[in-house]
Amino acid sequence: MQEVTIGGKTFEQYISEDQIADRVVELGAVISKEYADKNPLFIVLLKGAYVFASDLLKHFLHPCTVSFFRLSSYKGMSSTGKLTFKDVFDENIQGRDIVVVEDIVDTGNTLSGFLPALQTLEPNSVKVVSLLSKPDVLQGKVHIDFLGFEIPPAFVVGYGLDFDEQGRNYPQIYQLKQ
Ligand code: 5GP
Repeated sequence: MQEVTIGGKTFEQYISEDQIADRVVELGAVISKEYADKNPLFIVLLKGAYVFASDLLKHFLHPCTVSFFRLSSYKGMSSTGKLTFKDVFDENIQGRDIVVVEDIVDTGNTLSGFLPALQTLEPNSVKVVSLLSKPDVLQGKVHIDFLGFEIPPAFVVGYGLDFDEQGRNYPQIYQLKQ
């Protein structure tokens, strides 16, 4: 579909299923090379990263464990800047090589709150993989080690990303139509 309507707003196709799939394979290959013998713990940030993580981990065919955390700093179409921890750590982090899986890094507030909290649990290493980043908004606040796509600061939905909980189910990424 070229356009979809979600919550009364029109979104147009922005990154296709094929483009996403190709990039996910590339990211999987890079992460596999680095973590093949490290038995990493992938921490998937819910809800948005669930689709990306599911596809990405099909391309990491080495020992690993997966954990899920629900963080939310977004309401509607703008970041509230306030981090809400809605879940607790359910894995032993100490000494582990962690890969945090994020859907999109926008202002960086979510990760700049989450990563220091993670560090207090003494992991061996922490890196971040994000499907999308908006560098114009981020202004270097958070380092993304493995990145799918840089995008301009427009609101996107689909492939796990929502607009007030709608639209996560679309297989491609749509951008708000101006
Ligand atoms: P940050 O804390 O970096 O500003 O925002 C990170 C979180 O905000 C992401 O994990 C995602 O849930 C949400 N977010 C940021 N930009 C967008 C966007 O363009 N579309 C959607 N659907 N969510 C976004």
